[in-house]
Amino acid sequence: MSERLRITVVGNGNAGAALVDSLLAKDAAGIEITLYGGEKVGTYDRVRLSEYIAGSVDLEDLGMRSDDWYEEQNVDFRRGILLEEIDTKEQRVRGTDDEWVEYDRLILATGSSSSVPPSKVETRTAYSCSARYGTWRRCSNLGRRRPS
Ligand SMILES: Cc1cc2nc3c(=O)[nH]c(=O)nc-3n(C[C@H](O)[C@H](O)[C@H](O)COP(=O)(O)OP(=O)(O)OC[C@H]3O[C@@H](n4cnc5c(N)ncnc54)[C@H](O)[C@@H]3O)c2cc1C
Repeated sequence: MSERLRITVVGNGNAGAALVDSLLAKDAAGIEITLYGGEKVGTYDRVRLSEYIAGSVDLEDLGMRSDDWYEEQNVDFRRGILLEEIDTKEQRVRGTDDEWVEYDRLILATGSSSSVPPSKVETRTAYSCSARYGTWRRCSNLGRRRPS
Protein backbone atom coordinates (compact mmCIF):
# COMPACT_ATOMS: atom_id res chain seq x y z
CA MET A 1 0.00 0.00 0.00
CA SER A 2 1.36 3.45 -0.92
CA GLU A 3 1.58 6.05 1.86
CA ARG A 4 -1.35 7.97 0.46
CA LEU A 5 -4.71 6.23 0.36
CA ARG A 6 -5.54 5.43 -3.27
CA ILE A 7 -9.21 6.07 -3.86
CA THR A 8 -10.88 5.22 -7.15
CA VAL A 9 -14.22 6.89 -7.83
CA VAL A 10 -16.28 5.58 -10.72
CA GLY A 11 -18.84 8.09 -11.92
CA ASN A 12 -18.53 11.84 -12.33
CA GLY A 13 -22.16 12.81 -11.88
CA ASN A 14 -23.52 14.76 -8.91
CA ALA A 15 -22.83 11.90 -6.51
CA GLY A 16 -19.25 11.18 -7.63
CA ALA A 17 -18.37 14.88 -7.79
CA ALA A 18 -19.79 15.58 -4.32
CA LEU A 19 -17.81 12.66 -2.94
CA VAL A 20 -14.59 13.91 -4.54
CA ASP A 21 -15.21 17.36 -3.02
CA SER A 22 -15.72 15.84 0.44
CA LEU A 23 -12.61 13.70 0.20
CA LEU A 24 -10.48 16.66 -0.90
CA ALA A 25 -11.90 18.86 1.85
CA LYS A 26 -11.17 16.21 4.46
CA ASP A 27 -7.65 15.12 3.58
CA ALA A 28 -6.34 16.29 0.20
CA ALA A 29 -2.74 15.57 1.22
CA GLY A 30 -3.42 12.03 2.37
CA ILE A 31 -5.20 10.67 -0.70
CA GLU A 32 -4.71 9.98 -4.38
CA ILE A 33 -7.94 10.10 -6.37
CA THR A 34 -8.53 8.41 -9.71
CA LEU A 35 -11.86 9.46 -11.20
CA TYR A 36 -13.65 7.75 -14.08
CA GLY A 37 -16.51 9.37 -15.98
CA GLY A 38 -18.25 8.32 -19.15
CA GLU A 39 -18.61 11.90 -20.36
CA LYS A 40 -15.89 13.65 -22.32
CA VAL A 41 -16.28 16.75 -20.12
CA GLY A 42 -15.87 17.51 -16.44
CA THR A 43 -18.79 17.26 -14.08
CA TYR A 44 -21.65 19.73 -14.39
CA ASP A 45 -24.98 20.39 -12.75
CA ARG A 46 -27.35 17.92 -14.38
CA VAL A 47 -30.29 19.32 -12.47
CA ARG A 48 -29.97 22.63 -14.34
CA LEU A 49 -29.66 20.88 -17.71
CA SER A 50 -33.34 21.33 -18.46
CA GLU A 51 -33.01 25.08 -17.78
CA TYR A 52 -30.07 25.18 -20.17
CA ILE A 53 -32.00 23.30 -22.84
CA ALA A 54 -34.89 25.72 -22.32
CA GLY A 55 -32.44 28.59 -22.88
CA SER A 56 -32.96 30.21 -19.48
CA VAL A 57 -29.35 29.72 -18.26
CA ASP A 58 -25.96 29.73 -20.00
CA LEU A 59 -23.51 26.85 -20.24
CA GLU A 60 -21.29 28.59 -17.62
CA ASP A 61 -24.17 28.39 -15.13
CA LEU A 62 -23.93 24.60 -15.19
CA GLY A 63 -20.57 24.93 -13.39
CA MET A 64 -18.75 22.51 -15.66
CA ARG A 65 -15.34 21.65 -14.25
CA SER A 66 -12.30 22.33 -16.39
CA ASP A 67 -9.29 20.10 -16.92
CA ASP A 68 -7.32 22.70 -14.94
CA TRP A 69 -9.51 22.13 -11.91
CA TYR A 70 -8.76 18.38 -11.87
CA GLU A 71 -5.06 19.08 -12.35
CA GLU A 72 -4.98 21.67 -9.57
CA GLN A 73 -6.71 19.23 -7.21
CA ASN A 74 -4.30 16.47 -8.24
CA VAL A 75 -7.20 14.26 -9.36
CA ASP A 76 -6.37 11.75 -12.08
CA PHE A 77 -9.51 12.37 -14.14
CA ARG A 78 -10.07 9.74 -16.82
CA ARG A 79 -12.56 11.51 -19.01
CA GLY A 80 -14.70 9.47 -21.34
CA ILE A 81 -13.32 6.24 -19.91
CA LEU A 82 -15.80 3.59 -18.81
CA LEU A 83 -14.89 0.96 -16.28
CA GLU A 84 -15.02 -2.50 -17.77
CA GLU A 85 -13.57 -4.77 -15.13
CA ILE A 86 -13.19 -4.88 -11.36
CA ASP A 87 -10.70 -7.29 -9.83
CA THR A 88 -11.56 -7.18 -6.12
CA LYS A 89 -8.96 -9.81 -5.25
CA GLU A 90 -6.07 -7.75 -6.60
CA GLN A 91 -7.87 -4.48 -5.75
CA ARG A 92 -7.60 -3.05 -9.21
CA VAL A 93 -9.86 -1.84 -12.00
CA ARG A 94 -9.58 -1.65 -15.77
CA GLY A 95 -11.26 0.93 -17.97
CA THR A 96 -11.74 1.26 -21.70
CA ASP A 97 -8.23 2.81 -21.77
CA ASP A 98 -7.09 -0.77 -21.02
CA GLU A 99 -5.04 0.37 -18.05
CA TRP A 100 -5.19 -1.37 -14.69
CA VAL A 101 -5.37 0.99 -11.72
CA GLU A 102 -4.83 -0.28 -8.19
CA TYR A 103 -6.96 1.03 -5.37
CA ASP A 104 -7.22 0.90 -1.60
CA ARG A 105 -10.83 2.05 -1.69
CA LEU A 106 -13.26 1.77 -4.59
CA ILE A 107 -16.45 3.81 -4.83
CA LEU A 108 -19.09 3.18 -7.47
CA ALA A 109 -21.21 6.26 -8.17
CA THR A 110 -22.49 5.18 -11.54
CA GLY A 111 -26.05 6.44 -11.26
CA SER A 112 -29.20 4.43 -11.05
CA SER A 113 -32.08 3.12 -13.07
CA SER A 114 -35.74 3.70 -12.41
CA SER A 115 -37.68 1.59 -9.97
CA VAL A 116 -40.98 0.65 -11.59
CA PRO A 117 -43.87 0.04 -9.17
CA PRO A 118 -46.12 -2.90 -9.93
CA SER A 119 -49.25 -1.84 -11.80
CA LYS A 120 -51.63 -2.93 -14.48
CA VAL A 121 -50.61 -0.20 -16.88
CA GLU A 122 -51.47 0.09 -20.53
CA THR A 123 -47.94 -0.86 -21.53
CA ARG A 124 -47.96 0.68 -24.99
CA THR A 125 -48.37 4.14 -23.53
CA ALA A 126 -46.27 3.89 -20.35
CA TYR A 127 -42.53 4.57 -20.19
CA SER A 128 -39.83 4.34 -17.58
CA CYS A 129 -37.00 6.90 -17.80
CA SER A 130 -33.77 7.44 -15.93
CA ALA A 131 -31.00 10.00 -16.12
CA ARG A 132 -27.82 8.57 -17.59
CA TYR A 133 -24.77 10.33 -18.94
CA GLY A 134 -26.45 13.67 -18.31
CA THR A 135 -29.44 13.14 -20.56
CA TRP A 136 -32.79 11.43 -20.25
CA ARG A 137 -31.46 8.75 -22.50
CA ARG A 138 -32.86 5.55 -21.16
CA CYS A 139 -36.59 5.54 -21.68
CA SER A 140 -37.98 2.09 -22.16
CA ASN A 141 -41.52 1.19 -22.98
CA LEU A 142 -42.96 -0.98 -20.23
CA GLY A 143 -44.43 -3.17 -22.93
CA ARG A 144 -41.02 -3.22 -24.65
CA ARG A 145 -42.52 -1.50 -27.68
CA ARG A 146 -41.11 1.67 -29.18
CA PRO A 147 -43.36 4.74 -29.20
CA SER A 148 -45.31 5.05 -32.40
C1 LIG B 1 -32.36 17.18 -17.52
C2 LIG B 1 -32.29 16.68 -16.12
C3 LIG B 1 -32.96 17.36 -15.11
C4 LIG B 1 -32.93 16.89 -13.81
N1 LIG B 1 -33.59 17.58 -12.85
C5 LIG B 1 -33.55 17.17 -11.58
C6 LIG B 1 -34.20 17.89 -10.53
O1 LIG B 1 -34.78 18.92 -10.78
N2 LIG B 1 -34.11 17.40 -9.27
C7 LIG B 1 -33.43 16.25 -8.98
O2 LIG B 1 -33.39 15.85 -7.81
N3 LIG B 1 -32.81 15.55 -9.95
C8 LIG B 1 -32.85 15.97 -11.23
N4 LIG B 1 -32.23 15.27 -12.20
C9 LIG B 1 -31.61 14.01 -11.84
C10 LIG B 1 -30.27 14.21 -11.24
O3 LIG B 1 -29.45 14.91 -12.15
C11 LIG B 1 -29.76 12.82 -10.99
O4 LIG B 1 -30.48 12.31 -9.91
C12 LIG B 1 -28.33 12.86 -10.64
O5 LIG B 1 -27.62 13.33 -11.76
C13 LIG B 1 -27.85 11.47 -10.31
O6 LIG B 1 -26.49 11.62 -10.03
P1 LIG B 1 -25.54 10.39 -9.98
O7 LIG B 1 -24.17 10.96 -9.78
O8 LIG B 1 -26.03 9.39 -9.00
O9 LIG B 1 -25.69 9.69 -11.41
P2 LIG B 1 -25.43 10.23 -12.89
O10 LIG B 1 -25.62 11.71 -12.98
O11 LIG B 1 -26.20 9.34 -13.79
O12 LIG B 1 -23.88 9.97 -13.10
C14 LIG B 1 -23.38 8.67 -13.28
C15 LIG B 1 -21.93 8.79 -13.65
O13 LIG B 1 -21.39 7.48 -13.75
C16 LIG B 1 -20.68 7.37 -14.95
N5 LIG B 1 -20.64 5.96 -15.31
C17 LIG B 1 -21.66 5.08 -15.45
N6 LIG B 1 -21.19 3.86 -15.75
C18 LIG B 1 -19.85 3.98 -15.77
C19 LIG B 1 -18.79 3.06 -16.01
N7 LIG B 1 -18.99 1.78 -16.29
N8 LIG B 1 -17.51 3.53 -15.97
C20 LIG B 1 -17.26 4.83 -15.70
N9 LIG B 1 -18.21 5.74 -15.44
C21 LIG B 1 -19.49 5.31 -15.49
C22 LIG B 1 -21.40 8.27 -15.93
O14 LIG B 1 -20.58 8.60 -17.03
C23 LIG B 1 -21.66 9.46 -15.00
O15 LIG B 1 -20.51 10.27 -14.92
C24 LIG B 1 -32.22 15.71 -13.51
C25 LIG B 1 -31.52 15.06 -14.52
C26 LIG B 1 -31.55 15.51 -15.80
C27 LIG B 1 -30.78 14.76 -16.87
